[in-house]
Amino acid sequence: MDKKVCQSCGMPMDDADVMFGTEQDGCKSSDYCEFCYQNGAFTMNGDIDEMVETCVPFVMQGSLDVSEADVRAMLKEILPDLKRWKNR
Ligand SMILES: [Zn+2]
Repeated sequence: MDKKVCQSCGMPMDDADVMFGTEQDGCKSSDYCEFCYQNGAFTMNGDIDEMVETCVPFVMQGSLDVSEADVRAMLKEILPDLKRWKNR
């Protein structure tokens, strides 16, 4: 089963639809979370390394037993497979 994650930052987007970003017309984006994508545009326009650094503190908040280095390594593995970064 494919777990739904944000195709920009890799954050799990379970069933809480408040977490989805919005298109320019106000519709919900099915691919991106509200932190990455609002009104049809990405909120962060840096490169993938910048995205990793942006995500590290958020992932750390949610998981108490991992080191920053582990989180960074994990993100560097996940993010390149996501839709936003795949074709770069
Ligand atoms: Zn996101």
